[in-house]
Amino acid sequence: QVKSQGRNALCFFDPQMQIVISMRAQLEADLQMALTARQFVLHYQPQFHLDGRMVGAEALIRWQHPERGLVAPGEFIGVAEESELIVPMGHWVLRTACEQLAAWQGDERYRHLQVSVNVSARQFRQRDFVARVVEVLRETGARPHLLKLELTESLVLDNVDDTIAKIGMLKTKGVRFSVDDFGTGYSSLAYLTRLPLDQLKIDQSFVRNLGVRHTDDVIVQTILGMARNLELDVIAEGVETEAQKDFLARHGCVYFQGYLLGRPTPVADLEALIESATATATAVQG
Ligand code: C2E
Ligand code: MG
Ligand code: MG
Ligand code: MG
Repeated sequence: QVKSQGRNALCFFDPQMQIVISMRAQLEADLQMALTARQFVLHYQPQFHLDGRMVGAEALIRWQHPERGLVAPGEFIGVAEESELIVPMGHWVLRTACEQLAAWQGDERYRHLQVSVNVSARQFRQRDFVARVVEVLRETGARPHLLKLELTESLVLDNVDDTIAKIGMLKTKGVRFSVDDFGTGYSSLAYLTRLPLDQLKIDQSFVRNLGVRHTDDVIVQTILGMARNLELDVIAEGVETEAQKDFLARHGCVYFQGYLLGRPTPVADLEALIESATATATAVQG
């Protein structure tokens, strides 16, 4: 074994580190293979208006692994993002979500639904990102104003000028933008006013302890007040209890996503949920 030579010297033969490195390399190879073998699927988590209407859904990737079953993105998105793999993976997600949008547009029961798609930093920073989105919209026929791209706060802030330029170009096509995990980065009012955003998505870490941890109550109230002044929509993610939803609604939140209202599910289950809701509404109306 080669011992560390100084503060910044790497220790290449640390066996523990070797294991971690080879596991990551293996995962990367598996992900590449999974992309080719079409083992990824999208689940959709519904998003609701305060009045109870389902307004859309967030597309969330899962890996349908032949032996391990359904694997959550937490287990592979990080590795994909650190490699180039996130680019083709992200593109597949965008295309598949837009194909779904186009399919829903042809059916009056679902044609109002928006679809939110997560975009990672490396994908967004590709020089042809805007062109790719435009191309996917054209090829699928999805209506751009029903597509919402979720960018994280840190992504948005990392290169504000590039962000403004790209969002600006896609906005002229009608595409909408939401800031995911809002409140976890270095929020700055200055950038919020410079960016043509549509929505802030309050991170679930603040929603979790609403009514329990005073600092989170204050943060959420502040985000809602700020969004109102900037005329941005707000959606809360990770809403699990009526108490959390009530708190949010009392302070002006209008859109909700979370296990209380619906978990991420395959398309067919989401459609069944909409149909049963419609049937109930029709029955009530008489
Ligand atoms: P995110 O975009 O912030 O998505 C929200 C996550 O919270 C999802 O986890 C969702 O299933 C989960 N969630 C929703 N409601 C609740 C709730 O009430 N309680 C709790 N505890 N959790 C809730 P998921 O699907 O495991 O995704 C995790 C993260 O992986 C996402 O966080 C997103 O950052 C990333 N991700 C997922 N799909 C994609 C994708 O297609 N592309 C990229 N780049 N990232 C993705
Ligand atoms: Mg998201
Ligand atoms: Mg989020
Ligand atoms: Mg989150």
